[in-house]
Amino acid sequence: MRAIGVDLGGTKMSFGVINSDGELIDPHRIPTASTWGEMKTSIIDQVRRYQNDYDDIGVVGFGAAGMVDLNGYVHYSPNVPAFDNGVGAQQELRDELGMDVFVDNDNNCAGYAEATFGDGAKKAHTIFVGLGTGIGGAIIINGKVIRGEHGYAGDVGHFTMDPNGPLCACGRTGCFEAFASGSALGRLARDYAKRGDAPNIVSAVGNIDNIVGLDAGKAAAQGLSDGIAIVDEYSRYVATGLVSLVNIFDPGKIIIGGGVVELGDTLFVPLRMHLQEYAQAGYNFDDDFVVPAKLGEHAGVIGAGAWALSQV
Ligand SMILES: [Zn+2]
Repeated sequence: MRAIGVDLGGTKMSFGVINSDGELIDPHRIPTASTWGEMKTSIIDQVRRYQNDYDDIGVVGFGAAGMVDLNGYVHYSPNVPAFDNGVGAQQELRDELGMDVFVDNDNNCAGYAEATFGDGAKKAHTIFVGLGTGIGGAIIINGKVIRGEHGYAGDVGHFTMDPNGPLCACGRTGCFEAFASGSALGRLARDYAKRGDAPNIVSAVGNIDNIVGLDAGKAAAQGLSDGIAIVDEYSRYVATGLVSLVNIFDPGKIIIGGGVVELGDTLFVPLRMHLQEYAQAGYNFDDDFVVPAKLGEHAGVIGAGAWALSQV
């Protein structure tokens, strides 16, 4: 039996046929519709097309950006207005399609794929942390995604690092996300520039308001002192958050996704150093303890399909 995986993000919906080895066949991508009604029609059309082409489709897995409960009800999404009033995605799709459909959060799906088929495959306990516009994540214990009492577990971006810290998208202040998301790296670089501490980056980019996190990464990769200082401070924030997760879960591996992965060793070398520095005695991390995600943009659709297969 194979599954159809669906990954719904703020700008695009990705589809594919997935087998139990996590292989993705016949991927397809369309822009995210603005209403749930249109989205549902697109999903049903795409599922019917795959069913015509493949005779062993048994289940649909759907990863949605947002707060998804254990019944596959999407309560809210910061990036998908169609979910603003809540959508019973799992039940509606089951009713329309007449087949098993499982809906979970998109980060849980991506984390499941990375932990099962990516670099986490040899470890029982893996934490996935996506450092993008915000921070999403998944906690995988004994190969299973921990969903909590309601389904909301693993939202690793929103534990507090400093109550007096910057405002977070969730409305609180000083969350891990407010310090360590990809967006936070951009803000940090602009703060350096505004106080005159990022001359190389300003001369490369021009307008301070146009500086993004990757500009700091480029400067650091060229050995420029302002870029190195910014990435080092940022990597300390990331390590501060990760060491808290290590102390709570003692994972065998941490997999980092999101746009900042493009920085490569420029980020991962100082990050590993600071994580070791902040860890409690007893932890001696290998270089492959914290690694970049392998499956990239396909992780969500692969994880949605593979997770659904594991449910039937
Ligand atoms: Zn927050």
